[in-house]
Amino acid sequence: GTPQTTFKRVMLKISGEALMGDQGFGLHPPTVQRIAKEVQAVQELGVEICMVIGGGNIFRGLAGSAQGMERTTADYMGMLATVMNALAMQSALEGLGVFTRVISAIRMDEVAEPYIRRRAVRHLEKKRVCIFAAGTGNPYFTTDTAAALRANEMACEAIIMGKNGTDGVYDMDPRQHPEAKRYDEVTFDEVLSKNLKVMDASAIALARDNNMPIIVFSLDEPGGFRGILAGQGTCTRVVE
Ligand code: UDP
Repeated sequence: GTPQTTFKRVMLKISGEALMGDQGFGLHPPTVQRIAKEVQAVQELGVEICMVIGGGNIFRGLAGSAQGMERTTADYMGMLATVMNALAMQSALEGLGVFTRVISAIRMDEVAEPYIRRRAVRHLEKKRVCIFAAGTGNPYFTTDTAAALRANEMACEAIIMGKNGTDGVYDMDPRQHPEAKRYDEVTFDEVLSKNLKVMDASAIALARDNNMPIIVFSLDEPGGFRGILAGQGTCTRVVE
């Protein structure tokens, strides 16, 4: 039968690299469209969806500063990269008939709505997908922190981390260690103390301090996002 879910509102975080396909850089529209379909399948379950998309497929502040750019300028460039990704995703979602709002942490009114919390909540109530762009609007943060921040502000029930090339959190790198084991469940403190690859440490701390569960799953599995919300498929749950 139709998959059921208990989730009412979630935050989907994907990296910018999830949108580049096999190109190694930038945006690959068919890949964006594939992920948009995954989101549409969840929207059809009636789940309210927040999204944060990274910018690493275009520009990362750290990489720029390592090559001599001023760090905050480089970070603003990274934030602008996330706006491009958000617009690409909006275009793909609207191509499927899914109403979507891009909400930017940096004002650019011709391109995206400014972030006004109550307004964003209203969009969600009307079942519009809200893509939160430009990260937190602050340098020295990441889109992981932005996802944790907005998930809390929007009262999401979980942060769903869609990953490429892995279906959860492992005790060691499964590409180097075939004996690596995937956790079904792991605590925030273990993630921090063992430096497990989930989100960056400040994002994990923000999730932990507000008891916001994180679910890590593979974006490569067709129907995976919908499956995970319906309790099917492999994943790792990061909990208290
Ligand atoms: N960034 C920032 N503040 C934020 C979010 C992002 O300065 O609140 C910048 C930062 O330079 C980062 C870049 O935007 O490197 C792209 O985001 P991120 O690296 O998180 O993207 P992902 O790795 O998820 O693709």
